[in-house]
Amino acid sequence: MIDFQNVLDEIHNDLKLEKERGLIATYIPELKKQSNTSFGIYLNTISGENFYVGDWNLKFSIQSISKVLALSKAITFENKNIWKRVDVEPSGNPFNQLSLLELENGIPRNPLINTGAIVIADILVTHLKNPKEDFLNYVRHISGDQSINYNLEVAASEQKTGFNNYAAANLLKSYNNLNNDVDIVLDFYFHQCALEMNCKQLSNAFYLFANKGKCLNNNQHLTSSQVKRINAIMLTCGFYDEAGEFAFEVGLPGKSGVGGGIVALLPNDFVIVTWSPGLNPKGNSLIGMQALEKFTTKTNRSIF
Ligand code: GLN
Repeated sequence: MIDFQNVLDEIHNDLKLEKERGLIATYIPELKKQSNTSFGIYLNTISGENFYVGDWNLKFSIQSISKVLALSKAITFENKNIWKRVDVEPSGNPFNQLSLLELENGIPRNPLINTGAIVIADILVTHLKNPKEDFLNYVRHISGDQSINYNLEVAASEQKTGFNNYAAANLLKSYNNLNNDVDIVLDFYFHQCALEMNCKQLSNAFYLFANKGKCLNNNQHLTSSQVKRINAIMLTCGFYDEAGEFAFEVGLPGKSGVGGGIVALLPNDFVIVTWSPGLNPKGNSLIGMQALEKFTTKTNRSIF
């Protein structure tokens, strides 16, 4: 039996005083308010145990991690038709790179880079009656937590400065790969990224991806085949141009966000969330990646 609490405590102790902590994202002005010393980990096992350490209960902006939750909802509406509008190949490029979109005639490489996530947001805007409210309710439902909310200051902050995402949405529109108005789709997208959660809430939200589509409340949201595909996309595309490095170092499907969160999971076994706001040059949490590498090395648990 692995003493998970002891493993988390060791990792936290090893890394909490580390001087090299990466840089907080400043391109969304509201994210500058975070402290670079924050560091939390939460582990949820499928057998019903949980372990945590550090700042696991402080809320942070989940940013791109929300792209997986949006994809999981969009799949329930369109299933395989999604893949006519978004591909499933790693991009090998930063999350906000636009040039590939032109080369590939308006079909984004995958749903976890910004262009792909904007197409997914468009699908949700088409299918949801009250998109922002309904999506929030979905996230609350799968997490079993009604207190989860959007941080409206973060959404507004990104709305003011999101020129790259406006360019992306306009480009998609010019290729007829956006059915709704650019402003409406981006308003939804910026809110989705501005979901605020702590490590525990995020770990609970991702439980269904480790549990063949059944959330913590035992409701079946996705088929195991849909979950297989979403996990495959997380493994190959969840860390942008560092997806290879994450698979190499950590060996789990996962997703990062520029708020400094990372969620990773081992199907049928556990979900783990780390949060440390400092990012490496590829936009992934520096300490979070190190913590997860230590976790899978110490516990010998990975998909490989
Ligand atoms: N909202 C951010 C953006 O669109 C999300 C990026 C990220 O977390 N990598 O730029």
